[in-house]
Amino acid sequence: MHAHYMQLPREVIIGTKVLEKLGQICEKFGFHEKVLVIRGTKMGGLHEKEIDHIFDQYSISTYYFTSKNSTIESVRSAEEIIAEKSPSVVIGLGGGKVIDVAKLSSANRKLHFISVPTAASHDGIASSQASIKGLEKPYSLGGQAPIAILADISLISKSPYRLLASGCGDVVAKYTAVHDWKLGYRVKGEYYGDYAAELALMSSRLVMKNAAVIKSVSEEAVRTVVEALISCGVAISIAGSSRPCSGSEHMFSHALSMITSNTSLHGEQCGVGAIMSAYLQKANWRLVKNVLKKIGAPTNASQLRVEEKHIVKALTMIHQIRPERYTVFGDKGITARQAERLAKRSGVIS
Ligand SMILES: [Zn+2]
Repeated sequence: MHAHYMQLPREVIIGTKVLEKLGQICEKFGFHEKVLVIRGTKMGGLHEKEIDHIFDQYSISTYYFTSKNSTIESVRSAEEIIAEKSPSVVIGLGGGKVIDVAKLSSANRKLHFISVPTAASHDGIASSQASIKGLEKPYSLGGQAPIAILADISLISKSPYRLLASGCGDVVAKYTAVHDWKLGYRVKGEYYGDYAAELALMSSRLVMKNAAVIKSVSEEAVRTVVEALISCGVAISIAGSSRPCSGSEHMFSHALSMITSNTSLHGEQCGVGAIMSAYLQKANWRLVKNVLKKIGAPTNASQLRVEEKHIVKALTMIHQIRPERYTVFGDKGITARQAERLAKRSGVIS
């Protein structure tokens, strides 16, 4: 048996108004003097002054880099700032894209990073994988797990509901991802880890069970989604790859992003993909669909604002996205006719 490597966060703090613990955490880990905050354009409505204030009492100076997108150029620019300022740690403060830039740039410069999500839109807030645009492959690649995650529920609650619904789509998608993983194990003898698989499935079940409550956007509901996303991120770290959290439904999402310039979100696309993957897996696709409906996440092409022909095209591309990962779409994929039938029968296109 060869060595299996797991990288996990050391501290996870979830609660209301926990943002102010950021200075304390840095102090505890020995991150002194300077920190670099990689922030989004909005930063959850926070001002830099408020962040400076948190660090002032620990005599830590803050530097900022605003990341407008998650391209490889943003990662390189962040790396330059890291080289110039030599901070003791990098803090990713923003949505999933900002956190991905913080994750990869810090890993490349051999620094730890702290994840401070302002939205619960996908599992990248806790995982070791980063999804960066402008690289050869459209899917996520290895970055590093955050040394700490600070999820301030009061901050995340202020983000648009659409982001939270998208996060739910990403979690519900683990239902089909784990099914595909099991197939890969059975058909191709791929590595399979029960613990990581169960952890991802448990998150998916929790979100499914609480679908109606999530719509209320109470702090309790936000907490459920955040915890589910963190568990998914940990499942990825335990498996050492995104396999427990990313199956054919994610490949559908990647394919769709390659052929359209649509503005739908990662979790929204994965949710719709999961309906069709579940159909093909002969799993409970109606359950997936009903849960997404209850949450208020898209369940069809028009809600995704994607042309129906693009849904069909993306389905025919799934097997080419990550050929080394076997899924219910098989080695050779499906034809356009089969894809159209699948999308129609599952109600994704009319
Ligand atoms: Zn995902």
